[in-house]
Amino acid sequence: MWGKTILILYLVSNLSIVSAIQDRVSESDSITQSIAADIYQQFLAVHKTLTPLENPDAETLNRVGWRVINAVKKYPVSKKTAKEMESFAWELNLVAEKKMDAWCFPAGKIVVYSSLLPITQSDASLAVVLSHEIAHTLLKHGDNRMKQYLKEFLGGKNLSTALSAKPVETKDFFKMAYANGDYVGVIRGFDPSDEMAADQLGAVFCAMAGYNPVECTVFWERMRRFSGTGREPELISSHPVDEKRILWLRENMEDVARIYYKPISKK
Ligand SMILES: [Zn+2]
Repeated sequence: MWGKTILILYLVSNLSIVSAIQDRVSESDSITQSIAADIYQQFLAVHKTLTPLENPDAETLNRVGWRVINAVKKYPVSKKTAKEMESFAWELNLVAEKKMDAWCFPAGKIVVYSSLLPITQSDASLAVVLSHEIAHTLLKHGDNRMKQYLKEFLGGKNLSTALSAKPVETKDFFKMAYANGDYVGVIRGFDPSDEMAADQLGAVFCAMAGYNPVECTVFWERMRRFSGTGREPELISSHPVDEKRILWLRENMEDVARIYYKPISKK
């Protein structure tokens, strides 16, 4: 079991990793955010977004999503992330599609597919997904995958050069790097270490937003039970859930709750 000290040590070491990564990539942050915003708008132009009047789940997403985003703003992991987030124009959209998936692009551009809500089942589980996706973005896991794609498929060019030379291919790989739902089946799953880091930070966001992080275990156990049933939610293809991950969640979420969880007060 993690004690408070170990948890804090983990977060501090995590913070230094994030800072190191950002030192290297900070020059490309604005390009990354600009591509993300551009692709997000293109995505919304060809997918139906749902308003609260059309589907009450959109209201749920707004309620839970903004709680999580406000918690993220209070816990930005590092000063550099705080600075980076100043240029975020957060957006949340519920998209009508039969996919059980969600994703967060750089610059805080979030999409949740309407078929995910019957799987999340509760505000707390939806908060788990949103917190986890945002954590991946802030921890630069998509950036790292994009670098890999640039190296493997785009001649090792940096992002701006690749975008000028091969705009279509670069945008396609960008969508894959950030687990955009249009690319289910070809998206690589995040590494187990990335999953654990996103679980850890996501649980803190979740708790700070007023949702019990123990729900992280409940939600991912539910996802795990879909494995091998032929009805696996698309979310699992980019966020693999193995037994080790479940075990880790079972062992650590109560500690995160003890330190960060303040239930939403009922007025
Ligand atoms: Zn993940």
